Amino acid sequence: MAKLSDPITILKGIGPAKAKQFAALNIFTLQDLICHFPRGYEDRTKIHLISQLEPDIPACFRAVVMGTPRTGHIRKGLDITRVQVADSSARLNLTFFNNRFAAQQLQYGEEYIFYGSVSGDYGGYGMTNPVFEKPDSEPVTTRRVLPIYPLTAGLNNAAVLRAVAQALSLCDPPAEILPKEIRQEYGILGADRAYFAIHQPSSMEEAELAKKRLVFEEFFVFSAGLALMRAAKGGKHVQPYEDLDLSPFYDRLPFRLTGDQQKAIGEILTDFGSGAPMNRLVQGDVGSGKTMVAAAAMYCAVKNGAQAALMAPTEILAQQHYASLTKIFAPLNMETVLLTGSMTPKQKQTVRSQISEGTAQVVIGTHALLSDTTEFAKLGLVVTDEQHRFGVAQRSRLSGKGDDPHLLVMSATPIPRTLALLMYGDLDVSVIAELPPGREPVDTFLVNESYRARLNGFIRRQVAEGHQCFVVCPAVEENEELGVKAASVWAETLQKTVFPDLRISLIHGQMKSAEKEAAMAAFARGEADVLVATTVIEVGVDVPNATLMVIEDADRFGLSQLHQLRGRVGRGGSKSYCVLVSHSRNSESLMRLKALCKTTDGFRIAQEDLKLRGPGDFFGSRQSGLPAFRVANLSMDLETLQNAQAASARWIDTQGTADTPEAAALRQRIGELFRRAEGTMN
Ligand code: ADP
Ligand code: MG
Repeated sequence: MAKLSDPITILKGIGPAKAKQFAALNIFTLQDLICHFPRGYEDRTKIHLISQLEPDIPACFRAVVMGTPRTGHIRKGLDITRVQVADSSARLNLTFFNNRFAAQQLQYGEEYIFYGSVSGDYGGYGMTNPVFEKPDSEPVTTRRVLPIYPLTAGLNNAAVLRAVAQALSLCDPPAEILPKEIRQEYGILGADRAYFAIHQPSSMEEAELAKKRLVFEEFFVFSAGLALMRAAKGGKHVQPYEDLDLSPFYDRLPFRLTGDQQKAIGEILTDFGSGAPMNRLVQGDVGSGKTMVAAAAMYCAVKNGAQAALMAPTEILAQQHYASLTKIFAPLNMETVLLTGSMTPKQKQTVRSQISEGTAQVVIGTHALLSDTTEFAKLGLVVTDEQHRFGVAQRSRLSGKGDDPHLLVMSATPIPRTLALLMYGDLDVSVIAELPPGREPVDTFLVNESYRARLNGFIRRQVAEGHQCFVVCPAVEENEELGVKAASVWAETLQKTVFPDLRISLIHGQMKSAEKEAAMAAFARGEADVLVATTVIEVGVDVPNATLMVIEDADRFGLSQLHQLRGRVGRGGSKSYCVLVSHSRNSESLMRLKALCKTTDGFRIAQEDLKLRGPGDFFGSRQSGLPAFRVANLSMDLETLQNAQAASARWIDTQGTADTPEAAALRQRIGELFRRAEGTMN
């Protein structure tokens, strides 16, 4: 018997050279090898008749060799072996390239099991390079479900397959960490079977069961780890807020809050009164009204003698929050200040001293808030808007400027729920599912250049009705990227040749901050009809009178980004539209865009995006500090994650510190997983 911690070099066939190749896959020990899971399977269990074979679909069949294989030397480096085989249904010509093994092994009159796909290539109907085995041999490449492994240069699937099989025969698989009751409740395989079944499944169904078990296990370990962390963080005490009456604030609002907004605020007030620091995520789709929830929280904090800070990812958004919140806070005698990177040193200094003296009660800003020179007198509440734009580290850096301040994290749905649970597993969650009343879904259309005249007419009609339009382009200047619309050029074209009578304005990321601010403010005041923009307007921007969003070269954007952009319209009471313009002929990108036309559900769109781009891309590579999950496909396994979380929470509550082998094994696994996660963050 070997141990899981033994190096893979104890296996037959793995010397220093092979070990190096395995090392490239982070495989050093037998445990690493056993935890190197297949990325997929080929079902080679069913034996077909030759007459049943379909072009390009690989399958197994059993056939007799009808002659002696003939090998021809075509040119240097190219030998071709041909032979005919047959079963009771048909004959089939086989062709092998440079395969001396086939030429030697296949015996006239003998029967073999083959696996391959037929096609019309290479001089007529037939099959090239099938694999084959004798019917009485141990099934390796035929008559089985074949796992397909992630590979690296020099290491083929067969080599990994052999190594894994050896490892499994030499040592026990990793210990069981899931209690029996939980396995029974969720219909989950035991560890002893699962590790064999994931590598050597007897059927596709068994492979699925094994995968389910291992995904569950991975999530279970991860969420148990988070629960333990949270338990360790708990127990901190802060002075509970005593004045939880928000009616003066509510009286200032021009609308009634939605039920979900009220519920979220209620949850925040409960946290404020609890005596423990709040750690809360408010998650709601674009336009669901998260800002007012944050405003209520900030009002309450200030009322109780604390300072509140709101950090936004862009200047435009910070300025907009500042403009709309001062309107509410000023009559309530709350001193509100803005701090952004583009202010002059003198301005910044003035604001910073207001912050450090405590005369500024509400501080709204960008990353500038994080700078060392920003000191707070008594920071009691930290709010981060559009949290997915910030790393976890920035969140905690701002918190560090106070004494265990309350934390409120706001995020639009582009974080798929699975990822949100993982990233924010240490936070309580308030969900705003409901949109403010009177909002109709934004009608979305996909068009190509042939609709240009109609689109222009549509823009004109919206403006004639007193509304405004956004036109978003993927680039700022023409030469940036060939073939895509550039905002500055397009704005000029629209003004000069298409809409000489309309007021066209321009905003993009390369403009000076003051210019951006002026352009945005003017548009918000209705001083322009059409705002041509880049994605600087992607998050947060709020102009309720805008009813049309035109996105040029829409295939250049990610789905979640398009959804965010679309969220800039449909914010007033009027019917709103989004037109996606694309010249793409790529059927896949067109399908994605069509999918966006059909749904306005941010969760589903984000999920789709995640499938296409993967979690790494979703946040910018490796930013999130998430562990690299081995089996769990984040886009697919929401239900499993939820089950695993519920189970692990119960487990931690009841037996987290129990003295059983399972509990000990779990604690060890948690340690390993989190060490891996840290490794990927640096
Ligand atoms: P998001 O959740 O995307 O940050 P905002 O907070 O920007 O959404 O709100 C979107 C728009 O809806 C704003 O114009 C805001 O004033 C308005 N709004 C927010 N809450 C309500 C409400 N309860 N009733 C009507 N309009 C609301
Ligand atoms: Mg917002």
